[in-house]
Amino acid sequence: MSAFVGKYAEELIKNAKYIATPGKGILAADESTGTIGKRLSSISVENIESNRQALRELLFTAPDALKYLSGVILFEETLYQKTAAGKPFVDVLLEADVLPGIKVDKGVVDLAGTNGETTTQGFDGLGARCAEYYKAGARFAKWRAVLKIGATEPSELSIQQNAQGLARYAIICQENGLVPIVEPEILTDGSHDIKKCAYATEMVLAAVYKALNEQHVLLEGTLLKPNMVTPGSDSPKVTPEEIAEYTVTALRRTVPAAVPGVVFLSGGQSEEQATVNLNAMNKLLVLKPWTLSFSFGRALQSSTLKTWGGKAENVAAAQANFLARCKANSEATLGKYGG
Ligand code: 13P
Repeated sequence: MSAFVGKYAEELIKNAKYIATPGKGILAADESTGTIGKRLSSISVENIESNRQALRELLFTAPDALKYLSGVILFEETLYQKTAAGKPFVDVLLEADVLPGIKVDKGVVDLAGTNGETTTQGFDGLGARCAEYYKAGARFAKWRAVLKIGATEPSELSIQQNAQGLARYAIICQENGLVPIVEPEILTDGSHDIKKCAYATEMVLAAVYKALNEQHVLLEGTLLKPNMVTPGSDSPKVTPEEIAEYTVTALRRTVPAAVPGVVFLSGGQSEEQATVNLNAMNKLLVLKPWTLSFSFGRALQSSTLKTWGGKAENVAAAQANFLARCKANSEATLGKYGG
């Protein structure tokens, strides 16, 4: 089961450990052109390159916000963009000790014969793309696998296909110097209870780590980006303490101590819910061998986007909003949010 030791091994371990620094987390600003279009249309802003650039510049230049971040995930277009004043975004991030990351998957397609389950595409030319992204300054990558909970889902086929895919992606990243964020997202859609989500999460994570080991992935040079364990979105809510207990239990049962950090996705939770849940996990008095932090998209950007509304005169207020969310989540990684 020996792990791959290529020329980047030491660098991968160093960068993964740095991203997992307690008190820091990741901004997921890697919405594809289609997905960012949905976010922009919610504030009646047209989905054109100049507006996408303006939103990303607002985030990356928000005063004081970057000190709470260790990484930002970018979409390919953004990796090569600059501020209005002509400074590459990559340099803005690196100067603030924030590592640039890159989304390398190409979305999901249906798995034939299943009830709407999916697998992730993007393997064509993946190694060459990773090498290019490394040259452009990227030091980590993201690949999102999507699973769902249903009467018979996630199916064994979907669990195995997605675990193998994540492992293959991870080793290709490591061969090219990028720390892979391994993201098996179980969607919250449904009316299941929290126990069912806990069971599915444990099954999926166990399969993912078996596949990562079989494909010789260097776990010390990876990060995990899982869903929190919650009831389905059509079920009654439970307390942050209950979410924390179930989530940390699922992780303790399945995620090796060699993994330096777990960076949660927010998955449609409100900004406050996501922060409070993360805080509750970090307050739990059990052994947690990994940092528990954030890699939020919507839970870091929703209120900022609304405040901005696409207007230059709102940029400072929107940046203050973004700073507040970054600071709150930083405190939550230390279990110190809200006093
Ligand atoms: P959310 O936090 O909005 O779920 O997005 C995180 C992400 O990058 C999902 O791949």
